[in-house]
Amino acid sequence: MSLSTPISLKEREEDNSKFVEIQQSQTTCIAAEDPLQNLCLASQEVLKKAQQNGRSKCVKCGGSRMFYCYTCYVPVENVPVEQIPHVKLPLKIDIIKHPNETDGKSTAVHAKLLAPEFVNIYTYPCIPEYEEKDHEVALVFPGPKSVSVKDISFHLQKKSQNSIRGKNDDLDKPSIKRKKTEEQNLNDSKCKDTTLKKIVFIDSTWNQTNKIFTDERLQGLLQVELKTRKTCFWRHQKGKPDTFLSTIEAIYYFLVDYHTDILKEKYKGQYDNLLFFYSFMHQLIKNAKCPGDKETRKLTH
Ligand SMILES: [Zn+2]
Repeated sequence: MSLSTPISLKEREEDNSKFVEIQQSQTTCIAAEDPLQNLCLASQEVLKKAQQNGRSKCVKCGGSRMFYCYTCYVPVENVPVEQIPHVKLPLKIDIIKHPNETDGKSTAVHAKLLAPEFVNIYTYPCIPEYEEKDHEVALVFPGPKSVSVKDISFHLQKKSQNSIRGKNDDLDKPSIKRKKTEEQNLNDSKCKDTTLKKIVFIDSTWNQTNKIFTDERLQGLLQVELKTRKTCFWRHQKGKPDTFLSTIEAIYYFLVDYHTDILKEKYKGQYDNLLFFYSFMHQLIKNAKCPGDKETRKLTH
């Protein structure tokens, strides 16, 4: 009897530790699976009501839509603009979308709806000229030349210096004149602000992204790669890794990294509302029994 007590205690202890271990791994697992669960979001009551009432009219084109119009980039009648959050961003965002991309499926519109004065959407091949601005603009694109968010400033500076050196390579100029140009350029480089002011995203399927990316107007831009994160997108492309993010996720994660790695400030959910529509639609699809594409379309558009 005297021996049995410590043994059973020990067993119980072991069981407990196992239980704790399982619980912990389950929590991490859930959190990792659904990063949309702990966001600081505005009330989604307006979306719940709109979803119950079904489609309503776009205030601009009159088209029948759910939540927002994906061609006019405005919320529908049932979703008053005052009731959706307004997100302030630390820099401008350009989104270049492929003309073949189905508008209704794109999440790029979410950014335009929630941060209208910071976001511009362009349809390829009508895109802005970035040539003179390449010391303050970068393109999110994963590739061998991409740099991480925290190194953006360093690389923009290097780029700006290189372009000045490139201009000075003209050896036909008389040496005195050349020296003057060098001094002038050096002063220019001191004045040149290499702070990132605009970030460009490509909104399209993977194959189309490559076509846009190889456009020479984008080739001069610094390429930035995001940290690896898994997508929660319900329209996840078959055969693509689950790290291939939807556009709104890419924008959101870029901003979170920008905030901590470049602004050096603690992230307190400032940009979470960019996922206002995304997290709601994600929840709808998760709750639906058969989350096929047909169902998804019915629920969200
Ligand atoms: Zn419309």
